[in-house]
Amino acid sequence: MHDFHYGQGQLMCEGVSIASLIKKHGTPLYVYSQNTLTQHFKRLDQAIAPLDHMVCYAMKSNSNLSVIRTLADAGSGFDVVSEGELRRVIAAGGDPTRSVFAGVGKTAQEIQYALKQGVYSFNVESEAELERINKVAAGMKRKAPIAIRINPNIDAGTHAKITTGTYENKFGIAFEVVEKLYAHAAKLKNLHLRGVQMHIGSQLTEVTPFKKAIEKVIPLVEKLKRLYGIEFFSIGGGIGIVYKQALASGSERWWGSKESKNILTPELYAKALLPLLKPLNLRILLEPGRFISGNAGALISRVEYVKRTGKKNFVIVDAAMNDLIRPAFYDSFHEIVPVSAKGGKPVSSDVVGPICESGDYFCKDRPLPKVGEGDYLALLSAGAYGSVMSSTYNSRPLTAEILVHGKKHAVVRTRQKIEDIWRDESIAPWARNI
Ligand SMILES: *Cc1c(COP(=O)(O)O)cnc(C)c1O
Repeated sequence: MHDFHYGQGQLMCEGVSIASLIKKHGTPLYVYSQNTLTQHFKRLDQAIAPLDHMVCYAMKSNSNLSVIRTLADAGSGFDVVSEGELRRVIAAGGDPTRSVFAGVGKTAQEIQYALKQGVYSFNVESEAELERINKVAAGMKRKAPIAIRINPNIDAGTHAKITTGTYENKFGIAFEVVEKLYAHAAKLKNLHLRGVQMHIGSQLTEVTPFKKAIEKVIPLVEKLKRLYGIEFFSIGGGIGIVYKQALASGSERWWGSKESKNILTPELYAKALLPLLKPLNLRILLEPGRFISGNAGALISRVEYVKRTGKKNFVIVDAAMNDLIRPAFYDSFHEIVPVSAKGGKPVSSDVVGPICESGDYFCKDRPLPKVGEGDYLALLSAGAYGSVMSSTYNSRPLTAEILVHGKKHAVVRTRQKIEDIWRDESIAPWARNI
């Protein structure tokens, strides 16, 4: 599933040892495998090859320019959620005309910019947004391609913070009123009703909710095709990945968590959905984010201290929640493995960062190998919603990012200089002279 593995007791990313990257670039350090990125893209692309399709990578999961470029070269389009992301696509050499623009809060300026760049479609989330897009397009004497996002009211059965397809969520248009809204949109002169869209949630590990949602909306999609000649149906992203995994260390199996059994593979996904989608004779769009970038990245961190209290063994590392917020934000699990494989009996440990928040932890009471100051740990499957969600909280600089390709590697984001954290700040002119 990914290109992080042990070779002679050393953690490797493709053909590069993590230890060598640490030596050159320090920690905390994000490391991405180009091969994992392209392989995941290709596997999904091939699984749905029988359909007229376009995979639009949801770049909010990892928008490093090099990641975008890698996927653009592999043939991917993009799912963007802001002007900034669309500008990134262009800066990375991607194609804005193969990009869809999603999100509940598009500003007039963002709509104007996206129209100018010729985005493939705006995925519309409210009636007010339809009116706004129509108005902006009229001002530019253009027709804006749109798709309305259906909220199918299907529970994706995932974490509350990443469920999007029920009426408890802010996303999409309630299933029952979608048709009326298309009828209204058809009267707006500067809109081109190009498609229909949905996205029910993230980190889905079973195909059933996808299937249920698609089955529910198919009659409506067929009707919209008949009435308005829509060309595409986007079924969104959300394919889950394996976070708990065993790494083989030499001939031994690593002590990491057991591999989860029901992995939603692209092949299972395609097998369940193709029979539903093929007869539609529409172009099918997919918007995978995590599936492509998640397993492709690791966050490498140095052990600074080990602190034993009455009950606990705290491993204090130099990465923190500002670098990877997922455990604090989504209670999520990241496999943690040593950069140099270690034997011996595992010790129940809490791996924590240096930030002054109780939420600043990566795991609690987890059996980990005994480590000490100067050892290095890797948090696996940190490629999605990792670096992109980082901040400079506690005035900690943004980490460096490395892309590995075979035996080569490149710094694809340099470590932020500490002074640059406050580069855009200033002291109010009325402050006391010193
Ligand atoms: C976030 C998002 C995605 C990507 O979700 P993943 O779980 O990372 O695949 C796709 N489509 C929309 C509309 C999104 O908001």
